[in-house]
Amino acid sequence: MSFFDSEAFDNHEEVAYFSDAETGLKAIIAVHSTTLGPAVGGCRMWRYDDDAAALRDALRLSRGMTYKNAIADVGFGGGKAVIIADQSMKTPEMMQAFGRAVAKIGGRYYTAEDVGISPTDIGEVSKETEFVAGLEHTSGDPSPFTALGTFVGIQASVKHLTGSDSLEGKRVAVQGVGHVGYYLCEHLKKAGAELMICDINQSYLDRVVENLGATVVGIDEIYDQDVDIYAPCALGATINANTLPRLKAKIVAGCANNQLATPEMDQALTDAGILYAPDYVINAGGIINISFERDGYCADKATEKVERIYHTLSDIYQRASKENTPTGIQADRLAREILAKG
Ligand code: NAD
Repeated sequence: MSFFDSEAFDNHEEVAYFSDAETGLKAIIAVHSTTLGPAVGGCRMWRYDDDAAALRDALRLSRGMTYKNAIADVGFGGGKAVIIADQSMKTPEMMQAFGRAVAKIGGRYYTAEDVGISPTDIGEVSKETEFVAGLEHTSGDPSPFTALGTFVGIQASVKHLTGSDSLEGKRVAVQGVGHVGYYLCEHLKKAGAELMICDINQSYLDRVVENLGATVVGIDEIYDQDVDIYAPCALGATINANTLPRLKAKIVAGCANNQLATPEMDQALTDAGILYAPDYVINAGGIINISFERDGYCADKATEKVERIYHTLSDIYQRASKENTPTGIQADRLAREILAKG
């Protein structure tokens, strides 16, 4: 199978490899689409098993950003970068070398934080290129906005199933109470929900228990909880053939990226009578916030647009019900329709 014909390639506009012997930088920048604007997507640093795995990840993530940004209506295309390295190899000089790589893409790709890359790292990148988003002094930490979008997405999901978006007395299993998960718990608690939480970090668990009140459950037990909503807010691929039959929740709605281990899980969730909030739709609050950097940042305007995720998800659910298709497929269709209109 040739590279251009592979499923992961999916008509990427541009894929570039960069290396810098002095700093040890090895990076791939993938620009899937600039149809709706310059590609915006984070940079991930990961110790990949091999270069092929890094390329696959870059392509898959960059295509995902095209779809996420299209539905979020932010005027951005989709792209992503990966740096092939262990965290221990990271230096300011390496991040600056990555900045020079981003500069060479000439504004068709803007970079930001992702797994393994902090705001400080992006600060180093910005010494070499203007094509960065999400700097601390501009729109700041995206997590509270991602959490707000996830919260209104949960409300829209409950409304779709029950006719009311009240979360009073609803039981929610939150898997991962890090940056986004904690803010999400705050919203849920305020709305009267009961929290079941898990995390591998004890201090994060303590923070939720002490400040908000929650029942802590084991890392693996989270799937077996007798809850209304399962909110994955840690890792990807937690919906898989092993976990799905264990879920008692009627709604899967959380901020984690790539929640479905395989595309088939979309149909499997529908078959199991579980409403799935497509991950890249419900977790778009952060990128929506970043998009307000362009015309002079305004938190109120960003908040208002993030809250529209409620309606976007409701539309997707209605289309899915009407056409009897899984919600993930409907989200992909909607994204492709938006892209086709340009
Ligand atoms: P984070 O690292 O702050 O939080 C993740 C939490 O999950 C951590 O507390 C970690 O200890 C915990 N965790 C790790 N492994 C776990 C396990 N096996 N079981 C339970 N908990 C575990 O990250 P974050 O910024 O809060 O992002 C959470 C998820 O949301 C990620 O998948 C991220 O890609 C996605 N996301 C985040 C944003 C954002 O604005 N931060 C935007 C879009 C999507």
